[in-house]
Formats: sequence, C-alpha cells, structure tokens
Amino acid sequence: MSGRRNSIWIVDFILLSSPHIYYICGMSTEKAIVMSGIRPTGYLHLGNYFGAVRNYVKLQEEYTCYFMVADLHALTTHPDTKELKTNVHRVIAENIACGIDTDKAALYCQSHVRETSELYLYLNMLAYLGELEKTTTFKDKARMQPDNINAGLLTYPVLQAADIILHRAIYVPVGKDQEQHLEMARNFVKRFNHRYGEVFPEPIAYNFGDDLVKVPSLDGTGKMSKSENQLATLYLADDDELIRKKVMKAKTDGGPTENNSPKPDYIENIFQLMRLVSSDETISSFESAYNNCTIRYGDMKKQLAEDMVKFIAPIRERAASIQHDEAYLQKIMKQGAEKANESASKTMSLVREAMGLVY
Ligand code: ADP
Repeated sequence: MSGRRNSIWIVDFILLSSPHIYYICGMSTEKAIVMSGIRPTGYLHLGNYFGAVRNYVKLQEEYTCYFMVADLHALTTHPDTKELKTNVHRVIAENIACGIDTDKAALYCQSHVRETSELYLYLNMLAYLGELEKTTTFKDKARMQPDNINAGLLTYPVLQAADIILHRAIYVPVGKDQEQHLEMARNFVKRFNHRYGEVFPEPIAYNFGDDLVKVPSLDGTGKMSKSENQLATLYLADDDELIRKKVMKAKTDGGPTENNSPKPDYIENIFQLMRLVSSDETISSFESAYNNCTIRYGDMKKQLAEDMVKFIAPIRERAASIQHDEAYLQKIMKQGAEKANESASKTMSLVREAMGLVY
C-alpha cells in the first residue's frame, strides 16, 4: 500500500504545476483523469451542452475521459422505467452528435459498471444525515416530489462521488448547479483517505472558462432543465419553429428609459443566451442599443432565435440519425463499459485492500 500511497501524492503534487499531463519521477507519463455524467431523464438541452458536453469535447483531446449516462441517478426522480431505454440511447446519440469521439473517451452507461454500487455503499458509511439533508438539490427535489422523498434522493451526492472517484478522476466538467455536490465529494474523499489511507485524489468542478456555467431558462426563473420548465428550455432536439416560438416568448419589458441602466435579470438572461451562440458583433450592437435606450427586444429575440436555430439544427440532425442505429449504440456502450470496468476494477482492488476487506 505505501508505494501506491506515495505515487498518488506525487501525482497530486505535480498536477498542481502541470494541469494537462503529470509526470512520475520523470519516467512514465500518464494523462489526468476526467469524469462526468448526464441523467437520461429527457432530451439534452442548451444547459447540458454549455455546462457539460462542450467541455467534454475539449477535454477528450488531452485527458483520459469517462463520460457516463447516469441511469441509476435517474431512478431517484423517474422510477417509471418505460422510457429509460429510449432515453439512454438518445443521450448517447446526443453526446456523439455534440462531438464526443468514442475512440478517445469512454462513453458508457452507469449501470454497466457494477462496482459503482459497491463503492456507493462504502461511501454511504462516511456520509452524514445532517449534511445530506442540507444539500440544495435534495431540498429542491424533495419539494418537487413530496410523495417520493426516497433514500436515493438523499444520498444522490454519495452516488455521484462514487461515480467520480471510481476512476480516481481529478476534473469534473459540470455546470454551476453541481458545485455543492463536488464540495461534498471532496469531503467524502478526505474522510475515506483519513480513515483508510490515501486512495483517492480530490476531484474539482471544471469549466474551460473561469466560472462554472448556469444557462438560464427563457422565462427568467431558474435554469434550463431536462424535466422542468419545458417551454422555457431549448432542447437539442427542438425543431426550428419550436426554437423560434420559445425564444420569442422570452420575458422582456418596455426597455430601459435611462442610459446605461442595470439590466433586470430576465433581460440579462437573454444577453447571456446571446453570448453563447451569437457573434461578438451582434452582441455588442445590442449592448450599445440597450445602453442608449434604442433597443427593440423583438428584433433582439428574432436574432437570438436565428442564431439558436443555426447552432441547434446540425446537432439535432446528427443525433436523430445516430439514435435509430441500435446496433451502433450497443457497440458504443459495450466499448465504453469495457474501458470503465477496467478502471473501476483497478480502483476497487485498492479500495478493498485499503479498507481491510481482503480476507
Ligand atoms: P438536468 O438538470 O437537466 O436533469 P443533469 O442533472 O443530468 O441535468 O445534469 C447534467 C449536466 O448538465 C451537469 O453537469 C449539470 O451541471 C449540467 N447542467 C444542467 N442544467 C444546466 C444549466 N441550465 N446550465 C448549466 N449546466 C447545466
């Protein structure tokens, strides 16, 4: 164990000075590990793309990446599994359509890696009721489904920590809504390492820009989401007319009456969406119009709708053609599961040994 323990510390230490590749004793090189997941609870939307998948596509070029369809997490809020298979296939297809290269990254289904559940069990012994009950996402979801406040919902951050550290990942590309979960994952890691010896590095939430992203919903409240706010969320499967209709319905007002006044949240949200898909020129012309009170929100929304259509249509078309090729999707999931299982079984040997579960 002590040799292993040392090498992990060396990896951690050198990673701080070299974010892309770490070097062990100047001899062998190994890429840092990235892990993230998306629940198959509906169509992927712009928030999933800009919060998560856009980063996946960049990260796969330089890191060892594990990207997962989180079907077990989906059961915490969607116990009816009639749609699950279609949803799993669609998320896989949408990830590939967004640019995931399955020869570079492992794209797999969470339930195909059985060791996830084993690690989840062990981590549950290190997670406390008080901290789980305080988690924002738990409180939100408990409010939304008062008749099904199940233990899986409570321990969602524990399962998520298991997913990540099962590959001993360091970077976790996620949106801003996941920041608290990552903090909890680091706490579980610290507790595990303190109690049983250094097995896991501490994972951090990752975004290519400076800050984690939150893509706002079009109605000015909350974030875009797979299963809530459907008319205020732009899905990667929306057709052109639906995109236009949703954008034109976004909340606005009569416009500013004083030069350079601060933007209300719902107007800032429209600018924020524009910054994701429109050209710099377009954005600055609407910024100036806002600042000198000549802005026409109808024109702004029309421009945004067209830029959204240009962005979403090619992804939608690619995803639709992949989604119906079941043999191809099965092949991709098998290939992804093989890579993920290899990494998981290496980690779990270390875990069982560290915990004294080898008799
Ligand atoms: P959803 O909330 O739509 O069900 P998931 O919980 O499956 O999405 O999250 C998948 C990934 O997408 C996570 O990394 C999450 O942070 C990111 N994400 C979801 N919604 C948004 C959003 N509106 N803005 C930015 N990132 C988001």
